[in-house]
Amino acid sequence: MNIKKLEDWYLTHHRDLPFRQTKDPYQIWVSEIMLQQTQVETVLPFFKTFIKKYPTIYDLAQSFEDDLKKDVEGLGYYQRFKNMRLTAQKVVKEHHGQIPNHYQELIQLPGIGPYTAGAILSIAYDQPISAVDGNVIRVLSRYYNLNDDFSQVANKKRLNDINQSLIEKARPSIYTQALMELGALVCRPKKPQCGVCPLQDQCEAFKLGIQESLPTKKVKPIKKKLHYFTFLLFDNKGELYVRQRTEKLLEGMYEYPQFLGQTLAEVLEKNANYGITILQKEGMYHHEFTHLSWKMSVYSGTVQNPNSSWHLVTPKELLQLPMAVAHRKIAIKKGASAPLTL
Ligand code: SF4
Repeated sequence: MNIKKLEDWYLTHHRDLPFRQTKDPYQIWVSEIMLQQTQVETVLPFFKTFIKKYPTIYDLAQSFEDDLKKDVEGLGYYQRFKNMRLTAQKVVKEHHGQIPNHYQELIQLPGIGPYTAGAILSIAYDQPISAVDGNVIRVLSRYYNLNDDFSQVANKKRLNDINQSLIEKARPSIYTQALMELGALVCRPKKPQCGVCPLQDQCEAFKLGIQESLPTKKVKPIKKKLHYFTFLLFDNKGELYVRQRTEKLLEGMYEYPQFLGQTLAEVLEKNANYGITILQKEGMYHHEFTHLSWKMSVYSGTVQNPNSSWHLVTPKELLQLPMAVAHRKIAIKKGASAPLTL
C-alpha cells in the first residue's frame, strides 16, 4: 500500500473535526467513546458541550452520575458513559490523571477494548498500534479483496495483523485517522468514490469492480418473536401492579405483569393461582429489540392473589419509575367493570 499517498490525502482532505485537531489523550478518548455506534454529526454538539463542562479528566471524575446521564441524554447506550466516569476516577486515582500510554494498562480500564486502546495509542501517543473499526474493515477488505466475515474473531484478528504491519511503516497518528477518514468520506459503504481515492491504483476490489460487495455481510440472525400476555391489574383504589425486572434484558426496569404463552385461556389456566379476572382487551403492542421481537396482547383486569414481587403504584407514581420502553408505550385506559367473556 502506498501509505504516504494515503497520509498526504488525509492531511489535505480531512474534515475540520474538533477531535481531529488535538493530541490530548483525554479528548481523543472522549471522542472515541462517543463515536461508538453513533454518527459523527450526532456526536459533534455533544462533544463540544461535554468538553466545555468537563475540560479535564479530573472534572469528569468528580461528576455526578445523574448529571452525566443528563449531559449525554440522546446519545444512547448509556453504559458507555457510566464506564467513562469509572475510568476517569480510576485514571485520577491510579495514573495521576494521565490516560495510560501502554496497551495492557489501557485495556484494564472500564469500557476500553482493543479498538479504543489502539485509537488512543496511535492518535494521541503516535504509537504504531493498530485500531480496526468498521471504516478500516471496509477499506482494507476492499483494498486486499478479502471476503471473510469480520464478525468472526479469527478473521478480525487477521485483518488487525495486516493493519498492524501497515501502521509499523507509517506515521501512526496520521495513518489511523487517514484510514478512518477515507472510510467515512470516500470508501463509503454505498457508492464509494473510487475516482478520488488515493488507494485506487492498487485496490483489488476496484480492479474487479466488486467494491460494494465487500466487506461480506454477515447473515443477520432472525429475530425471535415472543408472544406475551400483559396484564394491567388494578386494585379497587385504581392502583396498578408492576414488577421490577430481574432478567438480564432490561434488568431493573419496571413492567406490568406479563406471561409468555400462545393463548389468553392457556395463560390464565397456567396462572390460575393469581385469581386474575380479565375486564377488557386494551390492544396489541409490539416492541423490537436487537435479537428479539415482543408481541404483547394487553388486557386490564383485577387480581386476587398477587405475586409477592409485584408492587402497587398509582398511575402518577408510575410516571416516575424507570420503565421498559416496551411497557411505557402501553396506554392505560381503565373503563370496563364487568369481566370479559373469554
Ligand atoms: S478504490 Fe474504491 S474501493 Fe478501493 S479503497 Fe478506494 S474507495 Fe475503496
